[in-house]
Formats: sequence, structure tokens, C-alpha cells
Amino acid sequence: MSGKGLNVAIAGATGAVGEEFISILQERKFPVADIRFLASERSEGKKLEFSGESIKVEVLKEDSFEGIELALFSAGGARSKQFAPAAVKSGAVVVDNSSTFRMEPEVPLVVPEVNAHAISGHKGIIANPNCSTIQMVVALKPLHDYSRIKRVIVSTYQSVSGTGKKAVHELESQVKNLMSMQEIECSVYPHQIAFNCLPHIDRFEDNGFTFEEIKMINETRKIMEDDDMAVTATTVRVPVFYAHSESVYIETEEKITADTARELLLNAPGVQVVDDPSKNEYPLAVEAAGKDEVFVGRIREDLFSSNALNLWVVSDNIRKGAALNAIQIAENLFETG
Ligand code: NAP
Repeated sequence: MSGKGLNVAIAGATGAVGEEFISILQERKFPVADIRFLASERSEGKKLEFSGESIKVEVLKEDSFEGIELALFSAGGARSKQFAPAAVKSGAVVVDNSSTFRMEPEVPLVVPEVNAHAISGHKGIIANPNCSTIQMVVALKPLHDYSRIKRVIVSTYQSVSGTGKKAVHELESQVKNLMSMQEIECSVYPHQIAFNCLPHIDRFEDNGFTFEEIKMINETRKIMEDDDMAVTATTVRVPVFYAHSESVYIETEEKITADTARELLLNAPGVQVVDDPSKNEYPLAVEAAGKDEVFVGRIREDLFSSNALNLWVVSDNIRKGAALNAIQIAENLFETG
């Protein structure tokens, strides 16, 4: 890094995650010497603001990374597969938001609050986990450190922004059309998403799980560095614009009382406890949207198993679930935070 900062490229700069990268780099005063915005031919020449400067979007190509030290990728898996190796060859460290490299053994899969130590083992690519996994492991880590988590059962309520900008527009237009008795179009999702819940995120696998569920299962075990942790997931798309919510049930080796869990979570990095049922206070997607924290509430002991807890975990999928987590990885890597 030069005295002025790092040369940074954003692949997918015009997307939902890309735009958040641009905001968060500025908000956190990340030391940027020069920045390059990359996207598809559709966006070529479009101008985006950064620190008072108007910067033209260029087409993502293999030679886009000359002189780049940090490449933040959020242009979809196919682009990561094609262009991340070229970025590494040019000398950049890639922090990748797609699922392409996450389960490769030599690629660190990192949530800084949980396994920042894994960053130093990188060989050019560091993977940012799936959005639903990130917020869950931030909440689970302090409990796991207190008493090992043996079993996780999670059901998610995921916002449409997790599918990108087109999905946000699809929900918006379906709501408007349905309210004015007009026909709706379903192009991003296979069914109506407005006023509906779809138990289907990403493709179906042969075993009946969706790939989103498999990502949560495999990634949780990799990040928590516990191959014996039993995880199951049901991932559901709901008609919410921003922030994912999760109902999480855990079984631990030793008992953790609800009070102890609350205390552990109150002191955990990146977590905010919102848990006062007497005042109807619990984490809400509309309140988490635009914020950095993982919000945890509805903390309660299971009625039938002495070593089990239920939690409600909410966070902004585009911030902590994507752009913020990736920038925190870069801050750790370059010690700029
Ligand atoms: P999005 O809003 O649809 O944006 C997609 C971005 O990729 C746009 O900048 C688009 O450029 C670019 N792109 C698409 N095709 C391209 C091509 N052929 N060449 C170059 N650039 C291309 O999607 P998103 O939600 O930001 O997601 C982007 C990535 O982040 C995906 O891999 C996704 O899985 C991952 N991710 C998303 C979230 C989330 O909560 N949204 C969370 C974690 C990870 P144009 O504007 O020019 O089309």
C-alpha cells in the first residue's frame, strides 16, 4: 500500500452489493488511492460518484486489474470464476462475494468476528460467506465459545435484495400492480413474491435441499471450524426489501441459560441485543436495514431439552451479509481498520 492508500477495483460496481461497497468504503474512510468501477457492457460509460469525483464504469475484462491491489468481486459466480484468477495474477488480493471459491480448502472463508485468523493463510482469494450464514455465525460464535454447539436448526426469512436489484424491482412492481388490480410479471422468481413466501432459494439439489440451504450447512461448519457440528436449514424468500431474519435453534454440550446467552451476546463484537418482550422489543428487518450490526433477540430456553436455546437473528444482507463483511476482511488484511 502506498502512503496514499490502495488501488481498489470493484467488479459489479453497479449492482446492489457494488453500490454498497462504494458507500461503505467512503463511510469507513478506507484508504483508497485510486478506484476502478467494473461491470458489464450494459453499464459501460455510466458515471458513479466516489469521494466527490465522477468515475466512469469500465467493462470487466481480464486486463482490468493492472496496478490493482484489492479487487472486490460482486458480479456473480461466472464472472468470479473467469476473472478472479486474472486479478490475482495481476497482483491483487480478491475478496469474492460469490459462492465459487467458498468451499475450496485453500480459500479462507471469513467472518472477521469469528475467524479473522484464517485471513493470513490466503493465496490471493478470500471468500466472503453467504449472507444468511454470516449473520448466523456472528450470533453463534460467542455461545459456541462458552459451550460447544452440537446442533443448529435454522429457518430463514430472506429479503428480495438478496437476489439483487432486479428482484427489488420485481417485488415493487408486483405490489403496485396487485394493489391496482393489474396483471403481474414473475421473471426473477418462479412464483409471485408479493404477499407470498417461497421456500426456495437458489437451485434444488438431488437430496431435496436447495443450494442456499447447503451453503448455510457447509459454510457454517467451515467458518466455525467444527466438522462435527450438525446443521440443518430451511431457507425462505419473503416479501421484505432489505435485511434477512432467522429463527435459530441450537443445542449445546453444556447448558447456557437465556440470561447467560444474553450476557455473552451483549459483549460480542458486531452484535446488538434487542430483547425486551415486555416492551415488544425484538429485532426487526425494517430497523436492521441500513445498519451494520447483527441484531439478536427472542432469546429463550427450550421447554423440552435442557441444553437448547432459541434465537431470532436479523441483519442487513447487503451490508454485514455482503459488502461490509468483505470490507472488514480487507481492513484486517491491510490493517487499515
Ligand atoms: P445485482 O444487483 O444483480 O448486480 C450484479 C452486478 O454484476 C452488476 O454490477 C452487473 O453489471 C454485474 N454483472 C452482471 N453480469 C456481468 C458481466 N457479464 N460482466 C461484468 N459484470 C456483470 O446483484 P447483487 O445482489 O449485487 O449480487 C452480486 C453478487 O454478490 C452475486 O454473486 C451474489 O450472489 C453476491 N451476493 C449478493 C448478496 C446480496 O444480498 N444481494 C449477498 C451476498 C452475496 P450491470 O449493471 O452492468 O449489469
